[in-house]
Amino acid sequence: MTGGAGFLGSHLCERLLNEGNEVICLDNYFTGQKQNVVHLLKNPYFELIRHDVTMPFFIEVHEIYNLACPASPIHYQYNPIKTVKTSVMGAINMLGLAKRIRAKILQASTSEVYGDPQIHPQPESYWGYVNPIGIRACYDEGKRAAETLFINYHLQNNVRIKIVRIFNTYGPRMHPNDGRVVSNFIVQALQGRDITIYGNGSQTRSFCYVDDMIDGMIRMMNTGEDFTGPVNIGNPNEFSIRELARKDIKLTDSKSKIITAPLPPDDPTQRQPNIELAGKELHWEPKIQLEDGLKKTIEFFRTII
Ligand code: NAD
Ligand code: UDP
Repeated sequence: MTGGAGFLGSHLCERLLNEGNEVICLDNYFTGQKQNVVHLLKNPYFELIRHDVTMPFFIEVHEIYNLACPASPIHYQYNPIKTVKTSVMGAINMLGLAKRIRAKILQASTSEVYGDPQIHPQPESYWGYVNPIGIRACYDEGKRAAETLFINYHLQNNVRIKIVRIFNTYGPRMHPNDGRVVSNFIVQALQGRDITIYGNGSQTRSFCYVDDMIDGMIRMMNTGEDFTGPVNIGNPNEFSIRELARKDIKLTDSKSKIITAPLPPDDPTQRQPNIELAGKELHWEPKIQLEDGLKKTIEFFRTII
């Protein structure tokens, strides 16, 4: 598991260990932290290794989950060149490893490959609308190049690949300073600070609870050899950012006020997955809807703030 000490990676490590697997977690702790996996260290089938995926790594494993990459805009824009290197060189290093040891490899791709989508909701067949020189490009184009590498290692070298396009996912273990909208709003609401909507809040996202996402990713890894993806995994219930802010205020019983701040350039105006393919190939659909997922996430943040 690369990026195993991050938000999604730590949940995946835990779930795979609970299912009786041995898990080796690689992370450079850029946005992840040991705290996320410290409870797993007592399990003798878990190993934690500090490693940066831009450097090669040699090991014997059956499956590789490639999650290493900062996911929050403020973190992936902090050092954009490093973000591209992590996506592209990380993919090359992990695909090279998968080729040598004949491992199956899953790529955590993203709905950001669709950019600011002109087709709504987004099916996997849509090629996207990405600004290649904008502030999100280091992440979007890095992830697109990683998909290109994955498909070509498959076609050229028969590497067994699985590509999942993850739509906005939230839940416990998001970092309070992660910068993504769900954690920002909950932390602001719990602390009674102003809730910062970027732009007018009419932009939409479709939020998936972490347990549903982990279930989808593991199902994808377990599909037959012929199915490579890409497959969208996400919750198709779409909300405006303003609606999300109101829900957080209600669920936390907060006195916070909503304020607006400038909308960052290239911020996608809408995003909603078409999940027909996941239904057909993975027999998967999300089970946890936004209010229930937010309640669990709010409980987590109450314990750490
Ligand atoms: P996260 O930032 O919590 O986790 C990323 C992990 O990768 C962190 O532990 C970080 O330290 C590690 N990492 C970063 N650069 C590294 C490097 N060079 N070498 C080794 N480790 C490195 O984010 P997350 O939400 O858990 O996202 C995990 C993956 O899923 C990412 O690849 C992200 O692009 C993808 N994804 C997530 C979402 C989401 O909504 N959570 C949406 C789309 C895609
Ligand atoms: N957003 C916001 N306030 C915040 C953080 C984010 O209004 O404090 C907005 C952001 O502009 C975007 C949406 O919420 O329109 C989702 O942002 P996030 O960074 O979570 O993910 P992404 O834009 O990558 O989907």
